[in-house]
Amino acid sequence: MRPEDILIVGAGPAGLACAIQLQRSGVPFLLLEKDRVGGLLWNANLVENYPGFPKGVNGAKLAGLFEKQMRSTGVQVIFDRVSQINYHADRLIVTTEQTTYHPRYLIIATGTKPRPFPISIPEEVHDRIFSEVYPLLEIRGQHIVIVGAGDAAFDYALNLAKQNRVSICHRAGQTNCLPLLRARAMANEKIAYQGQTTIRQILTGRSKNKIFLTAQQLNEEFDIECDYLIYAIGREPQLDMIPPDLLPEIEKLARTKRVYMAGDVMNGYMRQTTIAVGDGVRTAMQIYTHLKETETLTE
Ligand SMILES: Cc1cc2nc3c(=O)[nH]c(=O)nc-3n(C[C@H](O)[C@H](O)[C@H](O)COP(=O)(O)OP(=O)(O)OC[C@H]3O[C@@H](n4cnc5c(N)ncnc54)[C@H](O)[C@@H]3O)c2cc1C
Repeated sequence: MRPEDILIVGAGPAGLACAIQLQRSGVPFLLLEKDRVGGLLWNANLVENYPGFPKGVNGAKLAGLFEKQMRSTGVQVIFDRVSQINYHADRLIVTTEQTTYHPRYLIIATGTKPRPFPISIPEEVHDRIFSEVYPLLEIRGQHIVIVGAGDAAFDYALNLAKQNRVSICHRAGQTNCLPLLRARAMANEKIAYQGQTTIRQILTGRSKNKIFLTAQQLNEEFDIECDYLIYAIGREPQLDMIPPDLLPEIEKLARTKRVYMAGDVMNGYMRQTTIAVGDGVRTAMQIYTHLKETETLTE
C-alpha cells in the first residue's frame, strides 16, 4: 500500500478520527483539507455533549485539541481542495486544485454546506453576510442579525452576545432549538428574539458599513439596521465535488468497500461531533479489516 492508495477528504472531526485510527493501525493514507483542521467545530460556542469535558468545551478549543492530537500521532494534512471526484474504467479519479489522485479507497468526510440564503445578497454587502460565526468572533460592539431558529442560530447568538448585540429573526413563531439554548438566550439581555419575522430584502446605498433589511412581521413591514447578518437556516451534505449522475456509482462503490462516507455528510439531522468521530473510527476499522482480508499488510 502507498499513502495515495487511501484518500481521506476533509479534516473535520470525522476525517481526523479516521486518520488517527488508520495511523494507529499502521495503514498509510493521505488526508486532504480545503480550509482548516477541525471543520465546523470552529463555530461551536460550547460543546457540552462530548465526553471528557465535565464543564463543556468551546468548539474552537476542541478543534485545536483534535489538531494537537493528530499532529502528535504523526498525521500530516495536505491543504488542497478536492474539486471533482470521478470514476472511469474501474478507477477513482480525485481532482484537486493542485493535482490528481487515483486512490484505491476513498473516504468522503466533507461535512455539510449551508442552505443558501433565499433572498439576493447585493455585492456591496457580501463581506458583511456570513453563514458561519467563525469570521466574526473578534468583533465588538456591533449589532448582528441572525436568521434562523435552530441550535446553530441560538449557539451563534450566545457566542456573539458576549461582545455584541444580537437579534434573532425567524419566520415561524416557534423556535426549533434545544430548550436549554433557548432559555439561555432569552435570559441574555443582549439577545432579542423576533418570531414570525421574515427578511424580505437587503437594501444598500444608505450608509457604508451598515446593512439595512426590510422585514415583515405579520402584516407590518419595517426596517432593521445592523452591522452584520448571519444566516443559519439549515445545512445539507457537501457533495458538490461529485457530479450528480455519478452518485449511484458512488453508492455501488460504497457497497464494494472502495468508497466510505463518514460524519455529517451522511448523518441527516444527527450532526454531532461524537457521532462524526465514531463514524471516522468505524470507517478506519472497516478499512483495516478489509485490507487484512484482501491485501498484504505489513505487520
Ligand atoms: C454552531 C454549531 C454548534 C455545534 N455544537 C455542537 C455541540 O454542542 N455538540 C456536538 O456534538 N456537535 C456540535 N456541532 C456539530 C459539529 O460541529 C459537527 O457535527 C462536526 O463538526 C461534524 O464533523 P464532520 O467531520 O463530519 O464535518 P465538518 O466538521 O463539517 O468537517 C468537514 C471538513 O471537510 C472539509 N471539506 C469539505 N469539502 C472539501 C473539499 N472539497 N476538499 C477538501 N476538504 C473539504 C471542510 O473544510 C471541513 O474541514 C455544532 C455545529 C455548529 C455549526
